[in-house]
Amino acid sequence: MASALTILSDDERLFRDSVYEFADREIRPHVREMDEAATLPRPLIDRLFELGVMGIEVAELAGGGGGTFFHAVLAVEALSRVDPSVGVLVDVQNTLVINALQRWGGDDLKQAYLPRLASRAVGAYALSEAASGSDAFALSTRATEGPDGYLLRGHKLWITNAIEADVFIVFATVNPDAGYRGITAFVVERDYPGFTVGAKEDKLGIRASSTCELILEDCRVPRANVLGDSGKGYKVAIETLNEGRIGIGAQMVGLAQGALDHTIRYVKERTQFGKAIADFQGVQFQVARAAANIEAARLLVYNAARLRETGQPFVTEAAICKLVSSEVAERVASLAVNLYGGYGFVKDYPVEKLYRDAKIGQIYEGTSNLQLQTIAKHVLG
Ligand SMILES: Cc1cc2nc3c(=O)[nH]c(=O)nc-3n(C[C@H](O)[C@H](O)[C@H](O)COP(=O)(O)OP(=O)(O)OC[C@H]3O[C@@H](n4cnc5c(N)ncnc54)[C@H](O)[C@@H]3O)c2cc1C
Repeated sequence: MASALTILSDDERLFRDSVYEFADREIRPHVREMDEAATLPRPLIDRLFELGVMGIEVAELAGGGGGTFFHAVLAVEALSRVDPSVGVLVDVQNTLVINALQRWGGDDLKQAYLPRLASRAVGAYALSEAASGSDAFALSTRATEGPDGYLLRGHKLWITNAIEADVFIVFATVNPDAGYRGITAFVVERDYPGFTVGAKEDKLGIRASSTCELILEDCRVPRANVLGDSGKGYKVAIETLNEGRIGIGAQMVGLAQGALDHTIRYVKERTQFGKAIADFQGVQFQVARAAANIEAARLLVYNAARLRETGQPFVTEAAICKLVSSEVAERVASLAVNLYGGYGFVKDYPVEKLYRDAKIGQIYEGTSNLQLQTIAKHVLG
């Protein structure tokens, strides 16, 4: 008999709880300073590798966790409940970079990169450019084939993990006249000649997560580092992003839960008119609605993840889960600020950060309008 979506296996529950306990103990004390300094310290990243969340789906023999896509979703949710910036580092590593290599890489590429990614190398995923965001396949980074492989030339923008990453999946076109059929995915290493990480963005939220430009000036990439077939990069991008956005849904559910955790604690402590503000029915109903919204969003995320994991169609469900959970995160974080009153508006308390962090869920890995486009296609046929 099929079980309820929120019933986790023992293994899943233990994994999620251990990731949350780690985040609560080792990340929470540093959230504010990481946000203010806009950095993720390398010792924290090393701890994430030790914890086993940087190569969740990589086989144990290759040094990974031997886990599932659902484990990755649980890890992103648990980390984002404490800090969505750490959540997105782990999300990009697992649901985009490792996922793309596992699905599209040949044995040589997998052997070359998966053990490194599972043990010490951070990965990044570079599709967007200044003039091609939602219309991602209008990208202009050019890959020219030569005798020793490819030369990549162009600029990428908004690349998460760029400061920390050693391995980048970069999308470029081998034939601009072929439109999306020219797009090809490459595995590029940070120290390849002609590769530079450019300026870091100064962001509204998820400030500890790095977001940078990449500059490719005739960057030399071996032919063996084509990921999937030449001209099939659009498929790599579409399919990994369809899966990746379930991870963003998990990030947003974790963020919303984190905001609610803080709020529940605060409304019980704060007194006005001679009693805890949690005793006012007006406040109780707002908190109850937030809890209901989070539960609904979590079910959408878990459903999309379970569908993906069991090989069922999941693209519409993934779009729905990202659309809804990012809206829920924004609403719940906003309520948290309201219920903290003036204290919600200052950096001494944790909720203003979550309010800033929530906004990104409606932008990256496909804006909300693009999710609506996917859903509309399904609904209207
Ligand atoms: C913090 C951050 C991290 C990121 N990380 C990465 C990363 O690691 N790798 C990567 O490749 N990219 C990354 N991105 C880029 C991100 O995916 C894009 O910003 C996003 O896809 C939107 O593209 P755009 O910014 O060019 O906006 P645009 O595409 O210009 O969109 C502007 C507005 O127009 C709307 N719009 C566009 N087309 C349509 C349409 N057809 N119908 C209706 N509305 C439409 C959009 O919904 C949006 O509201 C990141 C961005 C940010 C801000």
